[in-house]
Amino acid sequence: MKEVLIVVDMQRGFLEPGYPLYCGDAVREKVIPAVKSMIEQKLKEGAKLIFTQDWHQPDDPEFKMWPRHCVAGTEEAEIVPELASYEGIHIHKTRYSAFYNTNLDQILKEIAPDKVTVCGVCTDICVLYTVADLRNRDYPVEVHEKCVASFDPEAHEWALKHMEKILGVKVIR
Ligand SMILES: [Zn+2]
Repeated sequence: MKEVLIVVDMQRGFLEPGYPLYCGDAVREKVIPAVKSMIEQKLKEGAKLIFTQDWHQPDDPEFKMWPRHCVAGTEEAEIVPELASYEGIHIHKTRYSAFYNTNLDQILKEIAPDKVTVCGVCTDICVLYTVADLRNRDYPVEVHEKCVASFDPEAHEWALKHMEKILGVKVIR
């Protein structure tokens, strides 16, 4: 079985205090160790690893909605040091879905995975829209509750239910 693990936006800007879109200590403490052990487990099982990174130009129109964050090449846009040493394919993205204006579609077509596991932040934003685009392409998707998080716990719960009931994701709690 060919498997892919997509690690969504595990970047300093979302997971280290002091940055404008820091998700908070609870998210940081939950999700970094959980994603780390998921990576270890999936690598042992022979999965391919893909990291997405929010990666904006300084004048990105997204900054009309959100404070300026994760500008290309800055420390803020780096993968957190706890996960930075794992080798994988890096997808730089400018919108919530990791498919928008990237070569992720092509990469997945070449791998042709039987299953895609998605982890990272935020459950209700970049995880959700990336998962939706995976399901639009008919990839079977699995999401482990402990390996995703959001600064908004209610939205986290809603997104998990939505992924399960509407997108046909296997949500593991
Ligand atoms: Zn962004």
